[in-house]
Amino acid sequence: MLDHTHTDWKARAATLSFRGQAFINGRFVDAASGDTFDSVNPATGAVLTQVARGDAEDINRAVAAGRAAFEDGRWSRMAPGDRKAVLLKLADLIRDNLEEMALLDSLDMGKLVTDAATIDAPGSAHFFQWYAEAIDKLYDEVAPTGPGDLALVSRVPLGVVGAVTPWNFPLDMATWKAAAALAAGNSVVLKPAEQSPLSALRLAELATEAGVPDGVFNVVPGFGDTAGRALGLHMDVDCLAFTGSTAIGKMFMQYSGQSNLKQVWPETGGKSPNLVFADCDDLETAADMAAFGIFFNQGEVCSANSRLYVERSIKDVFVEKLIARAQAMQPGDPLDPASKMGAIVDEKQTQGIMRFVEDGKKTANLVAGGKRVTVEGKGCFVQPTIFDDVAHEDPLARDEIFGPVLSVIAFDSEEQAVRMANDSVYGLAASVWTDNLSRACRVSERLMAGTVSVNTVDALSAMTPFGGMKQSGFGRDLSLHSLEKYTALKTTWIKYRA
Ligand code: NAD
Ligand code: MN
Repeated sequence: MLDHTHTDWKARAATLSFRGQAFINGRFVDAASGDTFDSVNPATGAVLTQVARGDAEDINRAVAAGRAAFEDGRWSRMAPGDRKAVLLKLADLIRDNLEEMALLDSLDMGKLVTDAATIDAPGSAHFFQWYAEAIDKLYDEVAPTGPGDLALVSRVPLGVVGAVTPWNFPLDMATWKAAAALAAGNSVVLKPAEQSPLSALRLAELATEAGVPDGVFNVVPGFGDTAGRALGLHMDVDCLAFTGSTAIGKMFMQYSGQSNLKQVWPETGGKSPNLVFADCDDLETAADMAAFGIFFNQGEVCSANSRLYVERSIKDVFVEKLIARAQAMQPGDPLDPASKMGAIVDEKQTQGIMRFVEDGKKTANLVAGGKRVTVEGKGCFVQPTIFDDVAHEDPLARDEIFGPVLSVIAFDSEEQAVRMANDSVYGLAASVWTDNLSRACRVSERLMAGTVSVNTVDALSAMTPFGGMKQSGFGRDLSLHSLEKYTALKTTWIKYRA
């Protein structure tokens, strides 16, 4: 393992070269139109490079390449052990290029490079390795039909999987989709978010170097209402795995109905509650994790613990602890290992966050942060912000802000806490802090969320499914269950002379 604490990230960034073309059928190509758009670093406003502005024609080419590869079996019918070897090689290549992968995400969307180098990039390698190792350990079924009949029930790859991903964890969101879809034997056409396409493009190049055959893993950068829409409406895409906002997730369901009834797996927004009971023994850890749960990655986390419900008897004490932690996490240069928080992804998102903050100042009690700031006179940065005494009906408590803004609400009983926590259109994640085992079980059983973390926040691993309930969508990434999204159940019935 490399020691990144001594890396001179600025010097390393200056030597980086960017790949901005689309990656179709195993090579980098311009968009059919020749158009490009700027890839911008939100920490400085600097243009990093030009990126191919993919549209319907580029999606057509990528889907055709994926279909041709699927049909001739160069990946889809490769022996499982051989597919495994290729994806293990890819995991190694990601590790070999860890600093570059980390820098691409940090420069493109503003996250701390030390987080990208210790969490995102190693995570990508780990997830590819995990799915690679699974490939030759999965068995299918034989139905109990009796003599004269042999009925095989197997999971088969679907064909061409479209993936549309957001900008908050660019490399890992691309990985969650691609690793499982490729492991299952599909071809993939990925449309990364326009704010952060660079790491996915490099990932596709590394996949080719690892031995993923041409046409199997294509990346078409471009905008949502053009390239993303074309993928969603494509007649020859079998499955569309989406991570992003709830509004766009709903559009993908419509695209499917308007086109070929492709399977759609939406993983969408959240407004996750964090419940802190007075019988939690370790309030210091609870405060550390509550701060991490909302301020990590600038709060641009779908499962961010953005609603904090605290039992009234400890509320003021707990909020004091949080204010101290927020003050210690002021934003700084994402390339400086001493920085505690990075830049917001772009100008539009920054302005959206600040609208919530300005409105919130009129309806709730601002106790920390609340300002947009610059670093060395530049960039999109927002202070870690806490509103206390937020009304349950306030937009601060209802809407996904997707920034470093925490809303605190006091509760008086377990029943009230659960009721408020569940009173949301979202159901992605929830956290509970208590040392009463029965309460932990009671409350987590009743919380309507895809993941409930008890005495921690944002519990996540390759081994456990990640996804939501209600309008947080129903797709599941990670774990073996994710493979179910990318395969069809097939029955093969054979008659023989008994
Ligand atoms: P977004 O929905 O605006 O964009 C996501 C992707 O969809 C991008 O690639 C974008 O280009 C594409 N897109 C946009 N409009 C489209 C259209 N009309 N047709 C087709 N594609 C279109 O979301 P965002 O702002 O990039 O990401 C933030 C959102 O993602 C938040 O709501 C967050 O909660 C959610 N998110 C969810 C998860 C999860 O696993 N549940 C993980 C990360 C982010
Ligand atoms: Mn960018």
